[in-house]
Amino acid sequence: YFITFEGGEGAGKTSILHSLQDKIANLGYDVVTTREPGGIEIAEKIRNIILDPTHTTMDGRTEALLYAAARRQHLVEKVLPALENGNIVLCDRFIDSSLAYQGHARGLGMDEVFSVNQFAIQECMPDLTLFFDIEPKKGLQRIAANKDRERNRLDLENIHFHEKVYEAYQQLVKKFPARIKTIDADQKLEKVETDSLEKITSYLKK
Ligand code: C5P
Ligand code: MG
Repeated sequence: YFITFEGGEGAGKTSILHSLQDKIANLGYDVVTTREPGGIEIAEKIRNIILDPTHTTMDGRTEALLYAAARRQHLVEKVLPALENGNIVLCDRFIDSSLAYQGHARGLGMDEVFSVNQFAIQECMPDLTLFFDIEPKKGLQRIAANKDRERNRLDLENIHFHEKVYEAYQQLVKKFPARIKTIDADQKLEKVETDSLEKITSYLKK
């Protein structure tokens, strides 16, 4: 199964993904964790280009294409082989991030960004997506409080941008109710973790 973690900044996706890895493995599943953009060498290089804080002139469509290119390579090189070997793949961000960030927040249009991504992923949509739901203001406050976190180009965007990202995720939840499940991320990390594990295990039992 291909399971993706989605949401805005500071929602806790990365922390939860790593803490769930062992818990799911302890249930007897083989688990591979990975992230986007990145996860493999070529895609991590593309990530560095996209997120370089000095790349202030990057065009929105260029950005969308780079995300799609990184996604394609990561999918064929890592995700699909892992799925074929019977692993559960937990991926930090996937296509919904592009729909929300590039499609809606950047204003390229969710349908247009979806078609670019269809070219990149063909039919490989996630089986299950967890949306980590937190108000953008609170998520950004969490990030600001975390001194160890690496800063990137997106940190320069204003709150309005992140509000749009949030708005887009809410639209996606309505559009794909069978695939995307909402997790209340504005709770203690342990509670977010148990809620997430519960959603995943009930999906796996189906
Ligand atoms: O999730 P992570 O912090 O690794 O993402 C890195 C940055 O890339 C974040 O600032 C995120 O908002 C941004 N991003 C984006 N569009 C995507 C995926 C990530 O702007 N499609
Ligand atoms: Mg993260």
